[in-house]
Amino acid sequence: MSLAASPYFRDEHEALRAQLRRFIAEEAKPHGEAWEEAGFVPRDVLRRMGALGFLGIRYPEEFGGSDLDTLATLVLAEELGRSTFGGFAITVLVHTDMASPHLAHGGSAEQLRRWMPGIVAGTCITAVAVTEPDAGSDVAAIRTTARLEGDDYVLDGTKMFITNGVHADLIFVAARTDASVKGARGISMFAVERGTPGLSVGRALKKQGWLSSDTAELVFADCRIPAANRLGEENAGFYAIMRNFQNERLVLGAMAIGEAQAALELTLAYVTQRKAFGGVLWEKQAIRQRLAMLAARIAAGRELLCATAWRDARGEDCVKEVSMAKAYCGELVNDVMYDCQQFHGGFGYIRESAIERMVRDARVHAIGGGATEVMLEEVAKRMLG
Ligand SMILES: Cc1cc2nc3c(=O)[nH]c(=O)nc-3n(C[C@H](O)[C@H](O)[C@H](O)COP(=O)(O)OP(=O)(O)OC[C@H]3O[C@@H](n4cnc5c(N)ncnc54)[C@H](O)[C@@H]3O)c2cc1C
Repeated sequence: MSLAASPYFRDEHEALRAQLRRFIAEEAKPHGEAWEEAGFVPRDVLRRMGALGFLGIRYPEEFGGSDLDTLATLVLAEELGRSTFGGFAITVLVHTDMASPHLAHGGSAEQLRRWMPGIVAGTCITAVAVTEPDAGSDVAAIRTTARLEGDDYVLDGTKMFITNGVHADLIFVAARTDASVKGARGISMFAVERGTPGLSVGRALKKQGWLSSDTAELVFADCRIPAANRLGEENAGFYAIMRNFQNERLVLGAMAIGEAQAALELTLAYVTQRKAFGGVLWEKQAIRQRLAMLAARIAAGRELLCATAWRDARGEDCVKEVSMAKAYCGELVNDVMYDCQQFHGGFGYIRESAIERMVRDARVHAIGGGATEVMLEEVAKRMLG
C-alpha cells in the first residue's frame, strides 16, 4: 500500500519524511540547546546529514545526490522547521537550497566536478553573499566590485547578514563586474573559497533568534580569485540570483509552515493538560477556537506550498504563487507563535520553553529572503494581467 496520504507526495517523499523525522528526533533535537549556546551547528552533524543523503536530495546521482523534485525539498524544509530549532534548520537549508543552487545551476562541468561531491557529502559547507550594508531588498543596488586583472578577478566590498558566513568553506558572492552600467545589469556570481587572502569575517553578528546559525559580515579587500571561479556568464548574475530566489522563497515558506505546525502541536499538548478554573484550558471555547482557526490557516498555507511546489516540479512559471506563499507563511508563522506563546502563559515567556525560542526564531520569516512587502509587490505586479 502507498505511504503517501496526499495528492502531492509519493512514497519516496514520505520515506524521506520518515527518515528526516527520525534523524531530527534522535540526533538533532537532543543537542539543539547546546548548538544554540555554541552559536553554530557542529560540522560533524552536517557531515552525518550528508552521509544520510539529506544534503543532496535535488542533486544528480553522479555527485552522490538522489535527484528528487521540488516536493522533496518541501519535505526537507518542513521537517527541519518542525525541529523547533530555526537556527539548525536555516544552517542546513541555506547550504542545500539557497547557496549551493548557485553552483548547481550556474557552474561549469569542471566547477561541478570540483565542488558538488563535497557539498552533497557535507564536507564543503556553502553560503551565499548577496546582501550588503546598503543593499538588501534592492539587489540591483549592490556595490561590491569584481575587476578582471589577467587571469584573476579582484573583489572589493562588504557583505552583510551572511548565514553560514563564519564557518562556510565556499561562498557564492554577487559582485559588480561592469561599472559602466547601473542596476541589474553588470552583476556576476563568483565562488570564493574559505582562506582566500583578502576574505575575512568582519564580525559574527548577534541575533534575536536563529542562535544556532552563524551569521557574518564578510569583508572582501583586494580578494583575488581565479577568473575560472566565476559562475555562469559575466554580467548575467542578477538573473541567476532571481531564479534561485524562487526555490529559496518556497523553502522559507515550507520551513515557516513546519515551525507553525510544531508550535500548534506543542500548544495542544500544553492546553490539554494545563488546568485553570476547574478544567483544562482546552475546554475554553475561546482557546480551542483560536487554535482551530490557526490549524485552518496552517492547512491553507501548506496546500498553497504543495500546489506551488507541484507546479514548479512540472517546470511551470510560478513567481506569483511563490511570492504569495512566502508572504503568507512568513506572516502566518508569526501570528501562530503569538497565540501559541499566549496560551503557554508565563511558561511561554521563560527561556527553557521551546515556544519562547520559536517566537524569536519566527520573526525573521517576515524580513529575510524577501520581506513580506517585497513579496506582495511581486504578487501585485502580476495581478492586473
Ligand atoms: C538572520 C538573517 C540571515 C540572512 N541571511 C542572508 C544570507 O545568507 N545571504 C544574503 O545575501 N542575505 C541574507 N540576509 C539578508 C536578508 O535577505 C535581507 O535582510 C532582506 O532581503 C531585507 O533586506 P534589508 O535588511 O536590507 O532591508 P531593506 O531592503 O532595507 O528593507 C527594510 C524594510 O523595508 C520594507 N521594504 C523594503 N522594500 C520595500 C518595498 N519595495 N515596498 C514596501 N516596503 C519595502 C520591508 O519591510 C523591509 O523589511 C539575512 C538576513 C537576516 C536577518
